[in-house]
Amino acid sequence: MGWERICGVASESEFETLDFRCTAVDRCTGCKGLWFDLLEKEDMLRRPGAEKIDIGDPVEGARLNEMENGRCPRCNDVMIRMVDKDQFNIEFESCPSCYGTFFDAGEFSDLKEETVMERLTHLLQTLKSNL
Ligand SMILES: [Zn+2]
Ligand SMILES: [Zn+2]
Repeated sequence: MGWERICGVASESEFETLDFRCTAVDRCTGCKGLWFDLLEKEDMLRRPGAEKIDIGDPVEGARLNEMENGRCPRCNDVMIRMVDKDQFNIEFESCPSCYGTFFDAGEFSDLKEETVMERLTHLLQTLKSNL
Protein backbone atom coordinates (compact mmCIF):
# COMPACT_ATOMS: atom_id res chain seq x y z
CA MET A 1 0.00 0.00 0.00
CA GLY A 2 1.41 3.38 -0.96
CA TRP A 3 1.99 5.91 1.73
CA GLU A 4 1.60 9.40 0.36
CA ARG A 5 2.65 10.97 3.63
CA ILE A 6 1.21 14.28 2.56
CA CYS A 7 -1.44 15.94 4.67
CA GLY A 8 -4.30 17.28 2.59
CA VAL A 9 -6.02 19.01 5.46
CA ALA A 10 -4.08 22.18 6.13
CA SER A 11 -1.44 22.45 3.50
CA GLU A 12 0.79 20.08 1.65
CA SER A 13 2.71 19.14 4.75
CA GLU A 14 4.49 15.88 5.33
CA PHE A 15 3.84 13.51 8.17
CA GLU A 16 6.52 12.58 10.64
CA THR A 17 6.53 9.20 12.33
CA LEU A 18 6.65 9.21 16.11
CA ASP A 19 7.41 6.23 18.21
CA PHE A 20 5.09 5.95 21.15
CA ARG A 21 6.07 2.90 23.17
CA CYS A 22 6.76 0.85 20.09
CA THR A 23 3.70 1.99 18.18
CA ALA A 24 4.40 4.15 15.17
CA VAL A 25 2.10 7.14 15.07
CA ASP A 26 2.03 9.67 12.27
CA ARG A 27 1.69 13.36 12.93
CA CYS A 28 1.49 16.15 10.38
CA THR A 29 4.38 18.60 10.61
CA GLY A 30 2.09 21.37 9.41
CA CYS A 31 -1.28 21.23 11.20
CA LYS A 32 -0.16 18.72 13.89
CA GLY A 33 -3.09 16.49 13.01
CA LEU A 34 -2.71 12.83 13.98
CA TRP A 35 -3.12 9.88 11.67
CA PHE A 36 -3.98 6.41 12.96
CA ASP A 37 -4.13 3.29 10.86
CA LEU A 38 -6.97 0.83 11.34
CA LEU A 39 -7.26 -0.12 15.04
CA GLU A 40 -4.35 2.10 16.09
CA LYS A 41 -6.83 4.61 17.45
CA GLU A 42 -8.39 2.04 19.80
CA ASP A 43 -4.95 0.90 20.81
CA MET A 44 -3.73 4.41 21.58
CA LEU A 45 -6.89 5.31 23.50
CA ARG A 46 -6.06 2.54 25.96
CA ARG A 47 -2.50 3.72 26.54
CA PRO A 48 -1.74 6.04 29.43
CA GLY A 49 -0.02 9.21 28.31
CA ALA A 50 -0.85 8.81 24.64
CA GLU A 51 -2.58 12.20 24.64
CA LYS A 52 0.88 13.77 24.91
CA ILE A 53 1.45 13.16 21.21
CA ASP A 54 -1.38 15.59 20.49
CA ILE A 55 0.71 18.74 20.73
CA GLY A 56 -1.15 20.98 18.30
CA ASP A 57 -3.17 24.06 19.12
CA PRO A 58 -6.81 22.98 19.68
CA VAL A 59 -8.07 26.36 18.44
CA GLU A 60 -6.27 25.89 15.16
CA GLY A 61 -7.45 22.29 15.04
CA ALA A 62 -11.06 23.37 15.49
CA ARG A 63 -10.68 25.86 12.67
CA LEU A 64 -9.23 23.22 10.35
CA ASN A 65 -11.96 20.80 11.34
CA GLU A 66 -14.44 23.09 9.57
CA MET A 67 -12.73 22.45 6.26
CA GLU A 68 -14.29 19.82 4.06
CA ASN A 69 -12.74 17.14 1.91
CA GLY A 70 -9.56 16.31 3.73
CA ARG A 71 -7.73 13.61 1.86
CA CYS A 72 -6.34 10.40 3.22
CA PRO A 73 -2.57 10.60 3.46
CA ARG A 74 -2.32 6.91 2.57
CA CYS A 75 -4.66 6.50 -0.38
CA ASN A 76 -5.53 10.08 -1.26
CA ASP A 77 -9.23 9.27 -1.07
CA VAL A 78 -11.57 11.94 0.26
CA MET A 79 -12.19 11.18 3.92
CA ILE A 80 -15.62 11.23 5.49
CA ARG A 81 -16.63 13.10 8.63
CA MET A 82 -17.41 10.81 11.54
CA VAL A 83 -18.47 11.27 15.12
CA ASP A 84 -17.21 9.03 17.84
CA LYS A 85 -19.76 6.33 18.65
CA ASP A 86 -19.62 7.12 22.35
CA GLN A 87 -18.80 10.81 22.29
CA PHE A 88 -20.90 12.64 19.78
CA ASN A 89 -19.13 15.94 20.33
CA ILE A 90 -15.87 14.57 18.95
CA GLU A 91 -15.53 14.67 15.19
CA PHE A 92 -12.81 13.14 13.14
CA GLU A 93 -12.16 12.13 9.56
CA SER A 94 -12.09 8.55 8.40
CA CYS A 95 -10.95 7.07 5.11
CA PRO A 96 -13.52 4.82 3.39
CA SER A 97 -10.75 2.79 1.73
CA CYS A 98 -8.19 1.97 4.40
CA TYR A 99 -10.32 2.81 7.50
CA GLY A 100 -7.59 4.97 8.95
CA THR A 101 -8.61 7.97 11.03
CA PHE A 102 -7.40 11.53 11.11
CA PHE A 103 -7.73 13.78 14.15
CA ASP A 104 -7.23 17.50 13.98
CA ALA A 105 -5.02 18.96 16.69
CA GLY A 106 -6.68 18.73 20.10
CA GLU A 107 -9.34 16.20 19.10
CA PHE A 108 -7.50 13.10 20.14
CA SER A 109 -6.64 14.38 23.62
CA ASP A 110 -10.30 15.46 24.02
CA LEU A 111 -11.48 12.01 23.08
CA LYS A 112 -8.95 10.33 25.31
CA GLU A 113 -9.73 12.54 28.29
CA GLU A 114 -13.43 11.84 27.98
CA THR A 115 -12.84 8.15 27.52
CA VAL A 116 -10.89 8.00 30.77
CA MET A 117 -13.51 10.07 32.58
CA GLU A 118 -16.29 7.83 31.33
CA ARG A 119 -14.45 4.75 32.47
CA LEU A 120 -14.00 6.23 35.92
CA THR A 121 -17.66 7.16 36.11
CA HIS A 122 -18.64 3.70 34.99
CA LEU A 123 -16.27 2.13 37.49
CA LEU A 124 -17.71 4.20 40.32
CA GLN A 125 -21.24 3.25 39.32
CA THR A 126 -20.29 -0.41 39.28
CA LEU A 127 -18.69 -0.10 42.70
CA LYS A 128 -21.72 1.65 44.14
CA SER A 129 -24.16 -0.89 42.77
CA ASN A 130 -22.07 -3.67 44.31
CA LEU A 131 -22.12 -2.14 47.77
ZN1 LIG B 1 -1.74 18.64 8.31
ZN1 LIG C 1 -7.02 5.72 3.11
